[in-house]
Amino acid sequence: MRLANLIDGALHPPASDAYFPSINPATGEACAEVPDSGAEDINRAVEAARCAFPGWSSTSAYERAMLLFRIADLLTANLNELAQLESQDNGKPVSLARRIDIPRAIANFRFFAGAVMHDHTEAHPMDGRALNVTLRQPLGPVALISPWNLPLYLLSWKIAPALATGNTAVAKPSEVTPMTAHRLAVLCVEAGLPPGVLNIVHGRGAAAGAPLVEHEGIKAVSFTGGTVTGATIARAAAPQFKKLSLELGGKNPTIICADADLDEAVPGACRAAFTNQGEICLCGSRIFVHASIYDTFLDRFVTEVDRIRVGDPADPETQFGAVVSRDHHDKVVSYIALAKEEGGTILRGGGRPQGLPDTCTDGFFIEPTVITGLGPTCRVQREEIFGPVVTVSPFDDDDHVIGMANDTPYGLSASVWTTNLNRAHRIAARLDVGTVWVNCWLLRDLRVPFGGTKASGVGREGGREALRFFTEPKNVCIQLEEPNG
Ligand code: NDP
Repeated sequence: MRLANLIDGALHPPASDAYFPSINPATGEACAEVPDSGAEDINRAVEAARCAFPGWSSTSAYERAMLLFRIADLLTANLNELAQLESQDNGKPVSLARRIDIPRAIANFRFFAGAVMHDHTEAHPMDGRALNVTLRQPLGPVALISPWNLPLYLLSWKIAPALATGNTAVAKPSEVTPMTAHRLAVLCVEAGLPPGVLNIVHGRGAAAGAPLVEHEGIKAVSFTGGTVTGATIARAAAPQFKKLSLELGGKNPTIICADADLDEAVPGACRAAFTNQGEICLCGSRIFVHASIYDTFLDRFVTEVDRIRVGDPADPETQFGAVVSRDHHDKVVSYIALAKEEGGTILRGGGRPQGLPDTCTDGFFIEPTVITGLGPTCRVQREEIFGPVVTVSPFDDDDHVIGMANDTPYGLSASVWTTNLNRAHRIAARLDVGTVWVNCWLLRDLRVPFGGTKASGVGREGGREALRFFTEPKNVCIQLEEPNG
């Protein structure tokens, strides 16, 4: 399968006519040829977005919403195929892509189509003397850059609010997982999206992403990815004063209090650690358990981990597949080795799963891995691994666990498991993160603000926050009296 760039309403090969392979992580085999795009393709795409902006930004919210609903309908009609492509490209279980990734991408389009039709703006009357009205106007062509872990889910989380608010866009999906973005491009043409409103350029971060961020025609950058890349993008965008939204990495704590309901907390912590092979920025990769229940929790937790069905992602029964690439596999394995050097005990996993089918011999698989015995200052406890590796540590009291939970450069999310509502509130208020889940994990409402503190990012997405990011407020002050009246 040879992929193409969507520019000005049509599919184009890259200007270089060069391609690189996209590898199926479960088999190690190439599954697609990806355009190796560069500055020339980006220039064309930004020019198409610039030309489309006056027309698109002057359509009504209703018209834009109807187009987004049509895209959602086409995604729904192609859900199974999209789920298979996502699984093949990323290594995630096809059942997960069918249940979470693709339905959520569809929901993103529907949600922002509805949101923009129901949106309203502020007015500030001045005691009968004047009326201030805030106009919220689209920015122009915007850049949307997304990672490989939830490819269509996160790309659509940016495309839908950007287009709904009247912007045009150039999107750069991850080079590692381009296939569903390519299918989305084809479906957008089929839906009748006007040429140039959405352009999708495939390629590598340095060759395609960097010129996109630096392009003077781009008014804002919405980026989800690693913290180091986020810092590079911030440096490139700052001299042009571009609006920036950065959703970056995480090292999220799961806090199990002494009064937690373990029937809920054990499977909850397991899901938080290992869903999508631990490749979700919100995964709970550090579990802290009150010392009084530490042994009981650990026994039950490893039993739960042993029950995870690891296997070929294409098998509908599989719950846990391959990690995304050989490079990422090697990075995760190096952290498992580091954990041993730092004095940790590998309680479960740490190696390649047994019993995989022959088709997966060359795939990038790592067992769900549970590590104990590491202090809070160890690198494995502080750095983002972004894979199927979780550490478990005891704590003495609330102050102790809050100190450890906050002691990383990151501040994305946390989950707290307790049956004491007062404790839940007290701990939640003191955690330096953007989202706290109490007795749950990854329960998402698309209206709530989403984002992180510290090295986990700048700005918030979701609901009204996204509508605000993609618009510029302008105050119009109308005097109601004669100047000398
Ligand atoms: P990267 O930062 O490596 O890449 C993200 C995107 O940025 C990719 O499309 C990448 O292209 C592109 N890119 C790379 N360099 C540049 C550059 N100089 N200029 C512009 N674009 C560039 O992240 P990963 O894809 O490895 O994703 C994993 C990371 O994403 C983890 O740290 C994870 O925590 C984070 N993440 C954060 C989320 C959040 O909401 N906070 C959600 C999901 C993931 P290419 O693929 O070609 O390198």
